[in-house]
Amino acid sequence: MSFPAEAAEIAVLGAGPAGLAAAVTAASAGARVTLVDAGARVGGQFWRHCEGDEGVGHHDWPTLVRLRTGLSRVDVRARHAIWHVERTDSGFTVHTDRGEVSSRTVIVATGAYDRQVPFPGWTLPGVYTAGGVQALLKGHGVRAGSRVVVAGTGPFLLPVAAGLVEASAEVAGVFEAGSPAGFARSPLSVLANAGKLAEGAGYLKTLLRQRVPYRTRTAVVAAQGTDGVESVTVASLDRQWRIVAGSERTVACDTVAVGYGFTPQLELPLQLGCETRLGADGSLVAVADDQQRATTPGVYLAGEVCGVGGSALSLVEGELAGLHAALTTVGAEPNRDTVARLLRQRKSLRAFANAMHAAHPVRPGWQTWLDTGTQVCRCEEVSVGTVRSAVKDLGATDARTVKLLARPGMGLCQGRVCGYATACLVAAECGREPTAADLAGVAARPIAQPVTLGDLARG
Ligand SMILES: Cc1cc2nc3c(=O)[nH]c(=O)nc-3n(C[C@H](O)[C@H](O)[C@H](O)COP(=O)(O)OP(=O)(O)OC[C@H]3O[C@@H](n4cnc5c(N)ncnc54)[C@H](O)[C@@H]3O)c2cc1C
Repeated sequence: MSFPAEAAEIAVLGAGPAGLAAAVTAASAGARVTLVDAGARVGGQFWRHCEGDEGVGHHDWPTLVRLRTGLSRVDVRARHAIWHVERTDSGFTVHTDRGEVSSRTVIVATGAYDRQVPFPGWTLPGVYTAGGVQALLKGHGVRAGSRVVVAGTGPFLLPVAAGLVEASAEVAGVFEAGSPAGFARSPLSVLANAGKLAEGAGYLKTLLRQRVPYRTRTAVVAAQGTDGVESVTVASLDRQWRIVAGSERTVACDTVAVGYGFTPQLELPLQLGCETRLGADGSLVAVADDQQRATTPGVYLAGEVCGVGGSALSLVEGELAGLHAALTTVGAEPNRDTVARLLRQRKSLRAFANAMHAAHPVRPGWQTWLDTGTQVCRCEEVSVGTVRSAVKDLGATDARTVKLLARPGMGLCQGRVCGYATACLVAAECGREPTAADLAGVAARPIAQPVTLGDLARG
């Protein structure tokens, strides 16, 4: 089958830092590039912004401005939700809710979404993911609440809390279940990325100025309220994240922002048959080599699909993917010094990301905060007790089978919210750690975005 002349040579899927860098780099190398994203504006999660917002309060905004200028050579398809990608004789067909894009090569840069850990009361209105609170603020200028508790683990809690303070919310406390002191175990990678420390120190300064309490080894273990959250129970944790007896106290609030890291968005790589593995943070990540090639020929990967590591790493991986995709697709030789520099940066930034994950692991003790009635799957209203019973009484030994027997992950979100927790609960009930196969079983979605029957019939 011949390749249609008007089709893209390279389709870049996702217009966050990774996809933007990949698209601009490949187009500069002479490839005909189409960039596809579900959002109204390019920038992804890191540069999410309101219409007309020109960078006030955003980090590294000049880089977005430079990349947007580079898009003059790229066919940009914003507001195109991709629901499926398939291999064809001549390359790939990308199915979106606004039609198809054909290409010889694809670069998947679809980023990540919030990793969620359930607790009693987490389904109350007013309990948000930390990413959701940040997205409301950055993308819509909306403050999620007036008196907010920020909880979970990882450095992302800091920009979320600082953003809320700057938007005049009262932050009742930041409760970090881990301990940032863990970074001290990797002094070299921390020193090599001093800019990140400075960024973190800036957020802490904002919190200190407003006297926001910041507590480590402490978590929100339950939320209470009638029509919405009115208070949370905060408790000290031991090393495995079990509650220290007698440490519980109540904090009044109208909103909770909870963040336990991110999970790579892998529907499209899994549809394409790309290999996955367990990443440094215990999430499922797609396997990419030094050229950002996936294990499926013609597929490149960039950014958080290869493991959560922040925007700087996504930019570097995007550029590497763009250079190598342009080489294999249109024969544009990359500059060797540039490739060597990018590989050095990738190594240093990945080492820093691994240090971050080692300092902020999600410990299994969160499962001891749950009642048997705590909902795991909100869409299908499946409780912890039902998930455990599918293992104990019905003989399931993996999360996929539990999904088929008890329906967690069968609803609208297709397991994006409950997949991680279900995999962990099932593994614990079977007396083992969650594996890559467990997580792949709850991450595979043949249809990546909600689509109409009309789109399905046309596709
Ligand atoms: C909700 C959320 C908020 C975040 N906020 C911040 C922050 O404020 N500061 C910070 O340092 N880091 C933040 N992060 C971390 C952030 O993911 C990275 O720092 C960085 O943006 C990763 O870049 P990326 O290009 O790999 O992915 P992203 O920036 O996530 O870009 C991926 C892009 O792919 C698009 N996409 C995904 N699937 C599809 C599909 N099926 N069809 C069409 N388009 C699709 C998305 O719309 C998005 O634009 C946030 C993460 C999340 C999940």
